[in-house]
Amino acid sequence: MSEELFKNIISHAKEYGFIFQSSEIYDGLSAVYDYGQNGAELKNNIRNYWWKAMVQMHDNIAGIDAAIFMHPTTWKASGHVDAFNDPLIDNKDSKKRYRADVLIEEHVAKIEAKIDKEVEKAKKRFENFDENMFRTTNARVLEYQKKIDDINVRFKAAMEQNDLAQVKQLIIDCEIVCPVSGTRNWTDVRQFNLMFSTSMGSVSEEASVIYLRPETAQGIFVNFLNVQKTGRMKIPFGIAQTGKAFRNEIVARQFIFRMREFEQMEMQYFVKPGTEMEWYGRWKETRMKWHRAMGFPESKYRFHDHLKLAHYANAACDIEFEFPFGFKELEGIHSRTDFDLKSHETYSGKKLQYFDPEENKSYVPYVVETSIGLDRMFLAVLSASYKEETLEDGSGRVVLSIPPLLAPVKAAVLPLVNKDGLPEKAMEIFDTLKYEQRCFYEEKDTIGKRYRRQDAIGTPYCITIDSETIKDNTVTIRERDTMKQERIPVEKIPAVVNDKVSPNTILKKL
Ligand code: ATP
Repeated sequence: MSEELFKNIISHAKEYGFIFQSSEIYDGLSAVYDYGQNGAELKNNIRNYWWKAMVQMHDNIAGIDAAIFMHPTTWKASGHVDAFNDPLIDNKDSKKRYRADVLIEEHVAKIEAKIDKEVEKAKKRFENFDENMFRTTNARVLEYQKKIDDINVRFKAAMEQNDLAQVKQLIIDCEIVCPVSGTRNWTDVRQFNLMFSTSMGSVSEEASVIYLRPETAQGIFVNFLNVQKTGRMKIPFGIAQTGKAFRNEIVARQFIFRMREFEQMEMQYFVKPGTEMEWYGRWKETRMKWHRAMGFPESKYRFHDHLKLAHYANAACDIEFEFPFGFKELEGIHSRTDFDLKSHETYSGKKLQYFDPEENKSYVPYVVETSIGLDRMFLAVLSASYKEETLEDGSGRVVLSIPPLLAPVKAAVLPLVNKDGLPEKAMEIFDTLKYEQRCFYEEKDTIGKRYRRQDAIGTPYCITIDSETIKDNTVTIRERDTMKQERIPVEKIPAVVNDKVSPNTILKKL
């Protein structure tokens, strides 16, 4: 997808009330966004789809809602005070700041793209092409692959040893240039803590520094025993929650992909030590299914295993999505060991253990986590749904082919003209539908223009009330993607709409 198309998606999101820059009248706040009338609905629907799939459909997963503020020691125990850093580097000519790890990852991605290009060229040239064989024998591909392996090995070692001079050396050796100035005039690499802090308490001398949570997971860990005991949960079991998280990102570009205030949907699954790899594999599969059930092309998703594991993990991968700017992380799946619970035991002096009646002993469970950004998921849905179409008559339309379950508005109720009792009849229909679905009523403009506006926000159905309706109680119902129109009796409308947007349309695929 081109840069141009991404720009169009961003302006579409604004023009149709999905996303606005925060405090726009004051020229905005960097990497902070507001959701408009359609955006809030779409966001709620994505969150609900996640909650239904993760909580409602599992008899052993409980949902909670923990506070954003937590005791400051939480973040000492979790490692965020000491280790929630990103390596940053500045280009002295452009004065632009970058994440050193991202510069290196992007450089590797460019070499990977070269390999893909060689493969594609060879595919066209040879019949009975064996891709595996080609990748393991072609001299040029092997050379590229060796470059990638060397970079990865050096990068991993440098990060593990916190050797920032080595990270800089790697950037120099790879001849990475600043995309803005085009020069290699880099500063040293420095670590930068991403947590926002504020103070709690009314008198400044007594106030203590607290943090805005950088992830929702810790609210789950500190409540592990509360939920386990009050919910009488037996291992394996999960605790899920959605909520805001805050990170002072160094490079906050790419619209809502990387924000400073964002929302996460996380689930921590508590398992018997030694079984975590099995659960890690199962959750990888389950989560990929959740994504694919929405019906976007399968080629838009892929797994990416982490080379550099976080301080708490013994295995980790991302589900990557093909955003308009390439494949990027959408969700993380991590095997977090017993790191967090053990550390909270140490710092709080309280036991955070589970008594296993089958084993007749207590232990600190291991944790497998699934963690997805709601805003990133929103961007994934928006960009995969956005289509600029040329119709048979040569006119154009922009349509959002959002899965109907997630669409902000499920049905638009449109009287053909603003007279002859049509608006009243239309309002009657709106009033029967409104208990179950978010509908939209509009009488202004030509019907064609109204259809286009509904296509642009992804409304699955438009229901048009005309003079026939008054005579025989039938309406025209128009489907968004095919634009096909059908005449149906008014009594049938709720069933047709509900069927199309029912949670079953997706949840039954899980
Ligand atoms: P990245 O490498 O892109 O910074 P991360 O690996 O730090 O992401 P996690 O800590 O694993 O991300 O967070 C889990 C999920 O939360 C991510 O997969 C992403 O969808 C979302 N997320 C993380 N940071 C942001 C952000 N700044 N803005 C929007 N979503 C985010």
